[in-house]
Amino acid sequence: MFELEKMFKKEFSRRDFIKYSSSIAVLLGLSEMYVPQIASALEQVASKKLPVIWLHGAECTGCTVSFANSNYPSVAELVLDRLSVKYHETLMAASGEVAEQGLDDAIKQFKGKYVMVVEGAIPTKDDGIYCKIGGKTFLSMVQKVAEGAAYKVALGTCASFGGVPAAGPNPTGCKGLKDVIGGTVVNIPGCPAHPDWLVGTVVNILLFGQVPALDQYNRPKLFYGRLIHENCPRRGGYEQGQFIKNLGEELPDIEGCMGAKGCRGPITSADCPHRLWNSGVNFCISAGSPCAGCVEPTFPQTPLYEAIPEVAKTIKAAETDKRTGAIGTFGASLGGAVAGAAAAAGGIYLANEKTKDKAKDKSQNKGV
Ligand code: SF4
Ligand code: SF4
Repeated sequence: MFELEKMFKKEFSRRDFIKYSSSIAVLLGLSEMYVPQIASALEQVASKKLPVIWLHGAECTGCTVSFANSNYPSVAELVLDRLSVKYHETLMAASGEVAEQGLDDAIKQFKGKYVMVVEGAIPTKDDGIYCKIGGKTFLSMVQKVAEGAAYKVALGTCASFGGVPAAGPNPTGCKGLKDVIGGTVVNIPGCPAHPDWLVGTVVNILLFGQVPALDQYNRPKLFYGRLIHENCPRRGGYEQGQFIKNLGEELPDIEGCMGAKGCRGPITSADCPHRLWNSGVNFCISAGSPCAGCVEPTFPQTPLYEAIPEVAKTIKAAETDKRTGAIGTFGASLGGAVAGAAAAAGGIYLANEKTKDKAKDKSQNKGV
């Protein structure tokens, strides 16, 4: 039973181990019923270290900082121990040629078995000369490491969709991982990504030998399956047409909705309202800041603090309704408009992706 203990070289009591297994169940959205199964699966996989090669491109390293602040330090520690991170430019002690050699060795030794985690966008213009590490372009490093990877994970919105480095006019031609290497990439967007989203994805791979179910943007549905708006603590304000007009404003009887201040919760899918950030303390909307939609392919969009068009239209209608006393009709009309906005945002991104895919197919057919 406690082979796992030896593997991790940690002093765990049985109680700790079960607690750990329970936290994994919660993380993966499984019921308590699965705890014994998780414990047994962990024991079975305990002997198989899962090597990780973690690359950094055009970014601020915020996702690594976020991961280091994991709500479950012991889980993160275990996952990192189990993962056996072979190369991580921010965390590893080695530098220079030793680090470069370490990367080459890891690629050779663990070919076909390792997880590739990419943090940061990939500059592609002019053969990627705008981001170089040890004299090599980040673009060439990503392509090389991707060849031997068993699983490919894009961590953060920059690596998933380009994010801030790819914001217009994008002079370096920054792109997300999937746009560069194609194939199956698990996107874990967020600016930064929540540590649980990475830990949960990796543990899912360890437990079930496969990536979790993904949505249309290759995000694990476990964490990105619901709109922020569905579970928002300010939803009551929204339903009653109580919108705040200035940041920091408090309404007398209710938490006002931030739709008028640009909240993108109605078109943003993530579990922030119940996952919470900073070890379960808070999240953007509860802290008085509208959701910026940081996990969506369209992030960052400006202006940040203006109502998204469909919501703006409906807020106006609500104000008219309030004046005429017809407030009851407003909630339904806003719901419809919001659903339309979410579909439209997704449609535009998918249309762009299809155009890109067609262009790629054409160039491949030409043997370019
Ligand atoms: S618009 Fe934003 S603040 Fe308002 S209910 Fe929806 S998610 Fe919450
Ligand atoms: S609430 Fe919105 S902006 Fe804040 S972290 Fe979640 S997805 Fe990003």
